[in-house]
Amino acid sequence: MRVFWHREDLRATDNRGLMQAAQDAAEADEHLLPVFIFDSLTTDHDGNPRMQYLLDSLAELRQWYRNHGGDIYVTVGNAVDTFEQLLTTYDISGVYWNRLYNKEARARDEQVTETIKAAQIDVETVRDELFFEPGDITTNKGEPYSVYTYFWKKWRDRPKETRVAHPPAPVLAKEEGETIPSMEDIGFSPPQADIQPAGMDAATERLETFCDDGIFRYESDRDYPTREGVSRLSADLSAGTIGVRTVHDATVEAKERASEEETDSVEEYQSQLAWREFYTHVLYFNPDVETENYKSYENPINWRDNPEELAAWKQGKTGYPIVDAGMRQLLEEAYMHNRMRMIVASFLTKDLQIDWREGYAHFRKYLADHNIANNNGGWQWAASTGTDSQPYFRIFNPMTQGERYDPDAKYIKQYVPELEGVSPDIIHSWHECSLSERARCAPDYPAPIVDHSHRREATLDMFQSARGDD
Ligand SMILES: Cc1cc2nc3c(=O)[nH]c(=O)nc-3n(C[C@H](O)[C@H](O)[C@H](O)COP(=O)(O)OP(=O)(O)OC[C@H]3O[C@@H](n4cnc5c(N)ncnc54)[C@H](O)[C@@H]3O)c2cc1C
Repeated sequence: MRVFWHREDLRATDNRGLMQAAQDAAEADEHLLPVFIFDSLTTDHDGNPRMQYLLDSLAELRQWYRNHGGDIYVTVGNAVDTFEQLLTTYDISGVYWNRLYNKEARARDEQVTETIKAAQIDVETVRDELFFEPGDITTNKGEPYSVYTYFWKKWRDRPKETRVAHPPAPVLAKEEGETIPSMEDIGFSPPQADIQPAGMDAATERLETFCDDGIFRYESDRDYPTREGVSRLSADLSAGTIGVRTVHDATVEAKERASEEETDSVEEYQSQLAWREFYTHVLYFNPDVETENYKSYENPINWRDNPEELAAWKQGKTGYPIVDAGMRQLLEEAYMHNRMRMIVASFLTKDLQIDWREGYAHFRKYLADHNIANNNGGWQWAASTGTDSQPYFRIFNPMTQGERYDPDAKYIKQYVPELEGVSPDIIHSWHECSLSERARCAPDYPAPIVDHSHRREATLDMFQSARGDD
């Protein structure tokens, strides 16, 4: 029997490790047993929305295996103990999994490897999540890139694999594990958010819809939250319900149909897939960025500790409409548009001067698409502590961001109903409105909790003292 351990790759098709295990099993005339383990790493790390996404995706994957004459062995427990148990129950000749790149997963995988190898059984780990392994794309001196643009050029120009098929039905073993636990069984609560449908079918549908249309306008529309100009595939890529090769193949096909102008849009989309790999490489080579600044300053940054302002930010009650709309979208959908993530992250770190780690933790808890590398990369970018981050002196103005990317305030009104009947002009100048004007237009919507221009100056001071400037 060969065992394939599913983790952040909840799919049957375009799963390189799974196919490797299936091929080896078929050649040896053995069966393949897929396994999923709810170990502490899986359950400690996620918030309710992402766990719900994983459970739903796992249920669909189990159904897929059953439809093909197999099943997936599901269990709750420690990974090492589970493998010890599996090794005594079955005659196993090889264990396979796709590699993960964060330090916690790597440490766990090493322990599991030792256990399996101690029983004289082979472990094979496979690259699946990325086209290029950390260390494959480096500077001419062999160093990992700390600047995305150079990384992107190499990533773009190198040949890429195409998607792989799913395992053939006859190779699948039919050995059931426990039933899939409920959210409560593993210490979670059903999420409040209305999350997009999870699983392989929903992911494929999203990809097809996007590559039929949105991808050709991606460059011009991606920053505008009401234009539906993005793919919404982040939770799928995070849970692994779609393979990155499948996504890339679809972009290559789209490019063949694209006009010259549309080709740039398709490339812009492909470059987002490269950002994902770039941040994964950054995390791999700098495992401590999960908690520490990537970029060091002369002195520590004196972030402010202000629980009331942090709470207002989390609830979407800062009195800055575009920020509040973004934060409420997160709570309502377990998703936030990328431009809004940039705006709210800038607001937390540069207007409220609150440590990016607070924002990272909140996103991790509420995003269905939480991914350590991307979440961390995004936060450190906004906080001016990351690789190619915003320079510390470039501070988003939340009013002009709102005006530019949501001119008719449609997005704002969708998530901040208190502003429903208010004109976009007033919404975008809410900080300048008098008390009586605010009370007349939207009595239930708060006044700005801070003054942007004042905080901008204070933030410049904060970074200048971190830099050691006098
Ligand atoms: C503060 C902050 C936190 C973020 N946290 C996460 C996170 O936890 N998980 C996550 O997947 N993305 C995160 N991002 C990146 C980005 O916002 C999301 O990937 C994107 O909004 C997801 O929507 P989409 O799938 O429609 O994106 P599209 O625009 O359709 O992009 C396609 C795919 O490319 C990748 N991608 C896009 N933008 C980025 C980026 N800036 N960095 C890395 N990969 C990218 C994602 O996998 C995404 O699904 C964060 C960004 C910021 C600024």
